[in-house]
Amino acid sequence: MPGMFIDVQVDATVAADPVLAKKLTDVCPVNIFAQGKDGRLQIVEDNLDECVLCDLCVQAAPAGAVRVIKLYER
Ligand code: SF4
Repeated sequence: MPGMFIDVQVDATVAADPVLAKKLTDVCPVNIFAQGKDGRLQIVEDNLDECVLCDLCVQAAPAGAVRVIKLYER
């Protein structure tokens, strides 16, 4: 479920990649990403609306693989 203002979508191949999952977990300043015990990426839904639109996650992943969606612009 998305946040009230922000949703973050990650391609399944990226979410399943433990190296990229760690990178995203490390890069987000407001802990929207976490890494499960299995190494897979998890989205911390409670933190979605804390997003500061810094784009670090978008830059850390292959082009187009992470999308930060501003729901309030819809
Ligand atoms: S844009 Fe910044 S704050 Fe928002 S999810 Fe990506 S890394 Fe986190």
